[in-house]
Amino acid sequence: MALGAMALSSTALTPAYAAKGDLIGVAMPTKSSARWIDDGNNMVKQLQDKGYKVDLQYADDDIPNQLAQIENMVTKGAKVLVVASIDGTTLTDVLQKAHDAGVKVIAYDRLIRNSPNVDYYATFDNFKVGVLQGQSLVDALDLKDGKGPLNIELFGGSPDDNNAYFFYDGAMSVLNPYINSKKLVIQSGQQGMKQVSTLRWDAAVAQARMDNLLSAYYTNKKVDAVLSPYDGLSIGILSSLKGVGYGSGDMKYPAVSGQDCEVQSVKSIIAGEQYSSIYKDTRELAKVVVSMVDALENGSKPEINDSKTYDNGKKVVPSYLLNPVLVTKANWKQVLVDGGYYTLKQLGQ
Ligand code: BGC
Repeated sequence: MALGAMALSSTALTPAYAAKGDLIGVAMPTKSSARWIDDGNNMVKQLQDKGYKVDLQYADDDIPNQLAQIENMVTKGAKVLVVASIDGTTLTDVLQKAHDAGVKVIAYDRLIRNSPNVDYYATFDNFKVGVLQGQSLVDALDLKDGKGPLNIELFGGSPDDNNAYFFYDGAMSVLNPYINSKKLVIQSGQQGMKQVSTLRWDAAVAQARMDNLLSAYYTNKKVDAVLSPYDGLSIGILSSLKGVGYGSGDMKYPAVSGQDCEVQSVKSIIAGEQYSSIYKDTRELAKVVVSMVDALENGSKPEINDSKTYDNGKKVVPSYLLNPVLVTKANWKQVLVDGGYYTLKQLGQ
């Protein structure tokens, strides 16, 4: 009996032991946003703790650069690739090569589109991110209590990032009823991802667009809310608003949403400038992805909790979705500091 148990456990352990030292490739999009730096660091730490070797690469938001990095990982013999894509539609050929070499692929945070060779996807509930962003604006403006009509402008994320559509659709599922009933008015009339997206999530692009909106539609009107999908864009939008006098005297800043709880934006929330952000615990995302890597290496099935949402154009990719959390001035301390994500000092407190 005891011998049998021993034999069983040693067989069960063999594949994991064999996997130790295998190379895992981690391809990240850019260092220009703190979240991706944290993502990369979390992945390296957690993979190394499990005995894997890691090749972590950042591609400077340059597509050919990311393609070359991934190809190189395959050449170096990586067994699993973890990819946060820049443009989710450009990896079809390189992933075919990876597949032909027997490499497994996990899409990290952003769905990789148009490829049958995406084995798993780990992310946050992206539609819910948008819902929380939209809801935070509705709450900030007291729209449920019958306030309005008030003015809103809309910003979307990068059109080559599948997440951007989920964020936008989630937010609009909350905002549309108010827009339809004219409680919210888009003075510019610009809506839909075709009109409001922001290529490569670039803050300067958002700031320039906000400048244009303010000078074309708001010289004698006030903007009351701005839907922004990401903290970096919110910073650009807020500085454009500041440039024409918002945030001083009785020109209150409009309610501006965001995402990622980057330090500068949390400070802005504490200071009463940005209204909200979305907390996505990247440590948890890394944990899920590392356990997917482990399962693939051991020949077992990674745990998923969603098998219908993420159709990449070639297949529905089995996914694990984590829960995003809304952060405002009312709960930043409890969520971010008590939760151990930041210290008070990091937030300038
Ligand atoms: C991520 C967001 C991030 C955005 C810009 C998206 O794919 O899900 O967390 O704000 O990219 O980096």
